[in-house]
Amino acid sequence: MKIYQVGGSLRDELLGLPVADRDWVVVGASPQQMIDAGYRPVGRDFPVFLHPRTHEEYALARTERKTAPGYTGFVFHSAPDVTLEEDLLRRDFTINAMARDADDAAAPIIDPHGGRADLAARVLRHVSPAFAEDPVRILRGARFAARFGFAVAPETLALMRRMTGAGEVDALVAERVWQELSRGLMYANPQAMFELLERCGALGRIIPEITQTAPDGPPMRPLTMAARHGMTLAQRYAALCAWLAPAAVKVMSERLRAPAECRELALLAARQRDALLHAGHLDAAQLAELVRVTDGLRQPGRFRSLVQVVGAVAEGACPPVDYGRAKARVLAAFQAFRNVDAGRIAATLAAPAQIPDALRQARESAVAAALEEAGLL
Ligand code: ATP
Ligand code: MG
Repeated sequence: MKIYQVGGSLRDELLGLPVADRDWVVVGASPQQMIDAGYRPVGRDFPVFLHPRTHEEYALARTERKTAPGYTGFVFHSAPDVTLEEDLLRRDFTINAMARDADDAAAPIIDPHGGRADLAARVLRHVSPAFAEDPVRILRGARFAARFGFAVAPETLALMRRMTGAGEVDALVAERVWQELSRGLMYANPQAMFELLERCGALGRIIPEITQTAPDGPPMRPLTMAARHGMTLAQRYAALCAWLAPAAVKVMSERLRAPAECRELALLAARQRDALLHAGHLDAAQLAELVRVTDGLRQPGRFRSLVQVVGAVAEGACPPVDYGRAKARVLAAFQAFRNVDAGRIAATLAAPAQIPDALRQARESAVAAALEEAGLL
């Protein structure tokens, strides 16, 4: 049996990037041989094993054949006679289809598809026409575009377009889409992921909501700004959705099965974007109401996140919106609102029915006083 380091870890190493988890391919071995050598089988659909000590993944070399539409319709063939070259041929991009002898870090890179040249030229190029058999590869390509800032080879873009046109993308399941999108959102240039999806026609199939917002493509600058400021996943997702109508955000988030934190912040941003952007013109009562409807008291962290997201929206608007004063007023109001001691006010009242009005008045007064003190009235 012969073991090679393959795929993303080798690519990242060649790029001089830190390598988190390495992938290995094993040629000339049977599953039983792996088990006898102490590896633990984990693959459900194809033979993958965990190293007894490092717990890294070791996959038996395999070929695959498409048997049904969608990305699950594959039959895998793995046997000791499958060669390394055959295994590399089924991989998605040339930069992911290189290998190196596991025992010798100085051994030459095995690179039958020109991955090194594409790495140097910063190009994503598909390995073979079999690329078209798995629409997840479009998502992966878009994610790599966001991560590395690489261009897509014209023939690969053309193939992605044909795949989209043939309805391949429609077979993607929500979990897989979210898995790739959420990873792509966290990279330095997440907008590049959506731009590539748009260029190959996949965006309108996966997230039609964001293609319907503007005639010249979806506004991506809020997301770019959110990434530039190192914002969280929920904030980046909210920035992506910030220009949509709340109803569209709802539909989109449900279809993508976005986690609750992402969904809620995005919905809040879509609903309160305008109020926050124009908070420079709100009076104390309106500011207090803004804190109340966004549940700032019970969810202070989310409230601060929201204020930051709208900051990215303001910066990303065309032309940019001056948000400094609005933001300062919102945060002053938020602090004043939180400092009102509801329990103490309630204790001074004769009837519980009086509480809501008294609280509202106390909060408005506190907000007004805070604004005045900060010179923000
Ligand atoms: P990341 O750094 O995000 O993990 P990766 O390229 O290592 O990127 P993995 O999912 O870890 O991605 O996959 C390891 C390798 O397996 C890839 O480099 C590629 O060679 C191959 N691979 C993974 N998914 C696919 C796919 N859908 N189609 C073809 N090859 C794939
Ligand atoms: Mg990997």
